[in-house]
Amino acid sequence: MKRREFLTIAALGSAASALPVARGQAAPAPIKTAAQIVIVGAGAAGTALANRLTERLDGARITIIDPRTTHIYQPGLTLVATGLKAANYVTSDESRWLPKGIEWIAEKVAAVDAEAKTVSTEGGTTIPYDWLVLAPGLILDYGAIDGFSTDMIGENGIGALYGGPEHAARTWNAAQKFTQEGGTGVFTRPATEMKCAGAPLKHTFLIDDIARRAGNAGKMNMIYAAPQTSLFGVPIVAEKVRMLFADRGVDTMMSRTLTSIDAGAKRATFATADGTEEIDYDYLHVVPPQRAPDFIRQSGLSWADKWTDQGWVEVDMATLRHLRHPEIFALGDVAGVPKGKTAASVKWQVPVVEDHIVANIDGREGTETYDGYTSCPMITRIGRAMLVEFDYHNNLTPSFPGIIAPLEELWISWLMKEVALKATYNAMLRGEA
Ligand SMILES: Cc1cc2nc3c(=O)[nH]c(=O)nc-3n(C[C@H](O)[C@H](O)[C@H](O)COP(=O)(O)OP(=O)(O)OC[C@H]3O[C@@H](n4cnc5c(N)ncnc54)[C@H](O)[C@@H]3O)c2cc1C
Repeated sequence: MKRREFLTIAALGSAASALPVARGQAAPAPIKTAAQIVIVGAGAAGTALANRLTERLDGARITIIDPRTTHIYQPGLTLVATGLKAANYVTSDESRWLPKGIEWIAEKVAAVDAEAKTVSTEGGTTIPYDWLVLAPGLILDYGAIDGFSTDMIGENGIGALYGGPEHAARTWNAAQKFTQEGGTGVFTRPATEMKCAGAPLKHTFLIDDIARRAGNAGKMNMIYAAPQTSLFGVPIVAEKVRMLFADRGVDTMMSRTLTSIDAGAKRATFATADGTEEIDYDYLHVVPPQRAPDFIRQSGLSWADKWTDQGWVEVDMATLRHLRHPEIFALGDVAGVPKGKTAASVKWQVPVVEDHIVANIDGREGTETYDGYTSCPMITRIGRAMLVEFDYHNNLTPSFPGIIAPLEELWISWLMKEVALKATYNAMLRGEA
């Protein structure tokens, strides 16, 4: 199914669950195999792959390992953190999404031994594999910010929405107070790679919009402070965001990395090229540095010459296959590729890994490749968003050329994010899209 068809159905809001596997074509007969396939992580990527492999293989022993029993639809967190959705909008039982006939080990993986081809859990279980897919997402390194702990979220003007529905709901407590009382709001992002790089911008835009609608724009001093030199990784999008921030009176302070917080004094310290700088805030949005989980960084499977402080898995950017261990793949946020830490990227990565594993089991070479497709429905105000889609080379890759302009603030793009994205995400989890 083409991306455009997929999004069109999504935009209609609904019928995603009824998507045929491949319209107009009979599904290929499942391939008989006794291969042992282990998937680490049952988030967006692991769950989608498990569903797709189950359809393609007959007799494979598929094991998915993840201690989390609640699935979190993370793209909804920005809506929870602005009071637009309740916390339970983003949660569901993981058991609802996993296919029948696979084994789910509800434990945390502690180590991978790529030479012995085994995975071991914290509970002491060791599982051998023929094929291993690493999809454990990433960790939020709150400890890298001195003076910060997650129990502060929601109190004394501190928000941090990335950590799940409870953090997002508490973030709204602090942010809502700011939209009513005003003062200085400081919105940050980390120096590391991060999932959904548009989310810190969306939070800034939405909090500004909510305060304006309440008639409190005059009370606000909005600052976006980030380590990078530009506002977004794709230059044309960065320029558009810069213009919107200028229109809305959001000041930008680039080349600043949040290093510590004095919550009592409501003071944030940033590292700059020349030393440090302190900013007093009434509301501070914290997005911590993001890294591969510890067991990945200790496994010897990370890149040795790039992202060395972050540990993303060393894979080929087109096939997502490990460069030194061909029986290992990485999917989703943990993959060491230049772009793509979004659920939209996962949607286009999963069929690639599926194709290569199934083809190899069948004695062929896989042919599918991932081009870095990433999509960011960039909310700019309530009821308006820009549907920004791009690839590894920063080419804009609009799904609806001539219909949805990627750099326009449109209601239809808002609808994509607010209504349709969850239906498409759920269809992806089921392996149906
Ligand atoms: C605030 C926010 C807004 C976002 N907005 C968007 C958006 O608008 N559009 C978009 O496309 N994407 C968005 N995303 C990004 C998207 O949600 C992620 O990129 C996507 O979920 C990545 O999928 P994943 O499977 O790699 O990781 P996850 O979905 O995070 O799943 C990882 C799984 O691995 C498990 N795990 C972790 N460690 C271990 C271990 N040691 N052993 C076993 N299991 C383990 C976890 O429990 C989890 O279930 C957003 C994310 C956030 C946080």
